[in-house]
Amino acid sequence: MECLQDLTSRPWCACEDCAGTGFDSTGLSILCPDCCGSGLIESTPLHLSVSGGMSAQAQEMYTRALGSLRAQIAAVITTAEKALAVAA
Ligand SMILES: [Zn+2]
Repeated sequence: MECLQDLTSRPWCACEDCAGTGFDSTGLSILCPDCCGSGLIESTPLHLSVSGGMSAQAQEMYTRALGSLRAQIAAVITTAEKALAVAA
């Protein structure tokens, strides 16, 4: 849960290097070296206010990534609860 709070406490926007695709445009590697393939980069609040805020595409990607993280965490918690129930 701490890592989710950490992720949601800071603004994110589409990676400018790959325009949010996550792929390296130079062809030197498969994934974008700036965002490691996520298509998102962490931004300072100042940067976002200058660039006009989070784009709709970045918002969608961010929401999708958070949903995936939430599902993974819920699955881990369910597994742990089942293991504890068996042990009790
Ligand atoms: Zn990138």
